[in-house]
Amino acid sequence: MSIRVLNTLGRKKEDFITREQGKVYMYVCGPTVYNYIHIGNARCYVVFDAIKRYLIYRGYEVYHVQNFTDIDDKILKRAQEEGIDWKEVASKYERAFIEDMRSLGVSFPDVTPRATENIEGMIEMIGKLLEKGHAYVVDGDVYFRVDSFPDYGKLSGRSKEELMAGARVEIDERKENPLDFALWKKAKEGEPFWETPWGKGRPGWHIECSVMSLKHLGFGFDIHGGGEDLIFPHHENEIAQSEAYAGKKPFVRYWLHNGLLTIRQEKMAKSVGNIILLRELLKKYHPNALRIFYLSTHYRSPLDFSEERIVEAVKAWERLENALENVEFLIERAPSGPSTGLKELEEAVGKVKSDFESSMDDDFNTPRALASLFELAKEVNTFVSLNRSLSSEARKLLQEAKKRLIDFSLVFGIELGKYGEGFIEAREASLKKLASKWDVAGEKGEEILNSLLKKRDEARREKNWEVADSIRSDLLSLGIEVEDTSFGSRWRVS
Ligand code: AMP
Ligand code: ZN
Repeated sequence: MSIRVLNTLGRKKEDFITREQGKVYMYVCGPTVYNYIHIGNARCYVVFDAIKRYLIYRGYEVYHVQNFTDIDDKILKRAQEEGIDWKEVASKYERAFIEDMRSLGVSFPDVTPRATENIEGMIEMIGKLLEKGHAYVVDGDVYFRVDSFPDYGKLSGRSKEELMAGARVEIDERKENPLDFALWKKAKEGEPFWETPWGKGRPGWHIECSVMSLKHLGFGFDIHGGGEDLIFPHHENEIAQSEAYAGKKPFVRYWLHNGLLTIRQEKMAKSVGNIILLRELLKKYHPNALRIFYLSTHYRSPLDFSEERIVEAVKAWERLENALENVEFLIERAPSGPSTGLKELEEAVGKVKSDFESSMDDDFNTPRALASLFELAKEVNTFVSLNRSLSSEARKLLQEAKKRLIDFSLVFGIELGKYGEGFIEAREASLKKLASKWDVAGEKGEEILNSLLKKRDEARREKNWEVADSIRSDLLSLGIEVEDTSFGSRWRVS
């Protein structure tokens, strides 16, 4: 069976057929780096990480591009407030974003272009839009001429009249149509600027994503993702610019949008004043619990945050950990002998794969896929409670169950088996010695371990096998086994 996805463009479920067989070219709108991200923003990155991991599981090679919007009104305002240079603001919050993603276990994109490094491409695109009559200059500002693009509104599923009525667009007499949007903004006194044939200024937000996605992924790439709040105007405008520029369509094959995270049914947003920073919540709850919380609801549906739901997610994660511990314990300790309940376990092991795949194939239905994983955990626990010895067939089956628990959890970015009680803390002193041996940073055991893994990954990338292998064997001597997966290296208790 093939994967089917609900395409925002057309609002229908479609077979997922990529531009190139076996490859997925994916762009996700990245953050505007002027603040720490909140748990609503993080939903978007966890969702697209799970989608990406599933596509990799399905055998696709995924090429993931995600930008940093590092020039914007909000960044300039923040720079004024903090009394520092706008470039410093952008790089501070870009670093914070990378840290946050790492803490949450979100795999890193293949390329992360910055808007300010792509200005030339934006000037070129705007120049061509002007030449083709799709844009016009008013006193140093450049606007896209919406009336020159008959498809405008197709992503939102609305006509121009409906958009105008719904969007409370500002009436600006300098614009030909109130829906016309800025491609380029004339520099105000004291603001940063770039030189162009139509004067000094800086790019509008929408043009950035068109230029960076086209540059790295080419026309007609497979997935464009972001939160539902970006459908209009951001993504509508991206389509208009890109298709008008190229003179063909479609710019993107599948548009995927995550629903919004709400709190007491209201959108979480800085402007509403109800945000919870991701880094604050991660001080209190484990990232695995957060991922289960996010993925327990379908990505397109709204998701209301409450602490009770996170506590439920913690319990759900513990159920998975317990099942794995139980399986490992039985495999290690049980003597050979007769086993009971084999048929039920065999059925459960088979069923989890087909249920998991058919759920994820159906527009990435993570809540249903998670439910099948919990079902397996339950069956495993029943089997463990029934048996004190294992036949060779049972042992093989349990190995299979263990593998499925681990592998399917990993599709959700949940690495089981790592957080065994006190395992790392008990090895903190030894890890500190390794930190000084390999000259890596870190205070706590886990930080050091992550730094060591990073150093080893770097060594592997540079084909420095000697360093990579010796870090691996140093960790193994502490009982930490390093495994290289398509998601990067991970560790387990050996
Ligand atoms: P921004 O930095 O505001 O452009 O947001 C970065 C990403 O987070 C975008 O894809 C937004 O659509 C998404 N986002 C913002 N607020 C929420 C929310 N409350 N729930 C889910 N996604 C959100
Ligand atoms: Zn974007």
